[in-house]
Amino acid sequence: MVNFQVALSEPVYAFDARGRLISGFVNGKNYRRALDNRVLTKWRENGQRDRRWLSEKEAREFVDSAYDLARRALEAIGKGGYRILPAPSSSEESVPAIREALKTVVSWSWEKLLEDADWFRRIYKPVSILPPDQYMALVLQATEGCWYNKCTFCTFYRDRQFRIKEQREFREHIAQVKGFFGPALVLKKTLFLADANALMISYRMLSGLMDEIHREFEVMPGGLAPDEQAAWRQEHPDGFGGIYSFIDAFNVGRKTVEQWRSLAKMGLRRAYIGMESGHDPLLRFLQKPGTAEDVLKAVRALKAGGVAVGVIILVGAGGDRYAAGHMEDTVRMLNEMPLDRRDFIYFSEFVALPGAPYVGIAKRAGIRQLTREEMKSQEQAIRNRYVPPNPKNRPKFSIYDIREFIY
Ligand code: SF4
Repeated sequence: MVNFQVALSEPVYAFDARGRLISGFVNGKNYRRALDNRVLTKWRENGQRDRRWLSEKEAREFVDSAYDLARRALEAIGKGGYRILPAPSSSEESVPAIREALKTVVSWSWEKLLEDADWFRRIYKPVSILPPDQYMALVLQATEGCWYNKCTFCTFYRDRQFRIKEQREFREHIAQVKGFFGPALVLKKTLFLADANALMISYRMLSGLMDEIHREFEVMPGGLAPDEQAAWRQEHPDGFGGIYSFIDAFNVGRKTVEQWRSLAKMGLRRAYIGMESGHDPLLRFLQKPGTAEDVLKAVRALKAGGVAVGVIILVGAGGDRYAAGHMEDTVRMLNEMPLDRRDFIYFSEFVALPGAPYVGIAKRAGIRQLTREEMKSQEQAIRNRYVPPNPKNRPKFSIYDIREFIY
């Protein structure tokens, strides 16, 4: 079974090996279908990225058009009405496999995708957010929700109580996830241990969950040199490049450096920490647990244990009132972190999420939100003033736009 694209120049649609529609490119706009069957469209206008979720009617039209084109493509192949494009992976020999894959694709419809979305929702709580470099990860929910759930700007997990899955339940979850994706698992390159703060689980319990993961998936071991990693990938084409997860700074110190090292050997590659700001008064205003110093200590402990980090900065948080302190202290904290090329510094522009208490609190406090341009210049100021420990081995800067996320 192959994952493949159907195209008559434009539109272009991509399906997974199960036949589920994943994405499309139509009339100059990108479309991504989530596994709960919502569709996000993204485009660029006047140099700006924009996006919106389609209405159910629009989503249905998009889906129907994709499967209709697949049906026409299958008919055309049946009549010999196709041509092989000069791409390295295309050849006459691949036509039978494409034909078989198209037969799988055309067995789908809007109604079948709705049933499929119900199946997805029986296995997963909503996958609320992933870091941008993990959009292609296979999510395994070891926890549900966030143990804290009180940061005023965040509504990701307000719909659920925090709980940790027992080993047996996690084993069943993995079996269900594997059954759901089936051959489409080949599109997944890494594993993401969700929800928020999954790494807060005690070391003893987490080791048990890691055992479950290793029983079911091939995961690249930690500590390999780049050439060894390449060799491992060659030998394990369906293997996963590592395990990734979120953690809040507050909980990192509950494990020893030795325990982090041991988790790194089990394949834990990177932990993502929402620092938001290095400015403690702002963290208090956001009702974030812990201090900037806690984040610094957490990063040091993770790095000492061989776990890379992704540090997320909330650009524009605290509006005009906190802008100067936010920028100054965030740069100061970042400059003290032992970051290298395995790490990320993410810039996440503040987004007023519906239902988040932050907007009302900021309004009552007389705080003005920063404009898009002001947020851009705050981000640029942090980038400009950041001094990596080793300029030849510097962390990557990246954008973390929560509005782009889809699973
Ligand atoms: S920002 Fe993180 S710690 Fe705060 S409520 Fe959201 S998930 Fe929980």
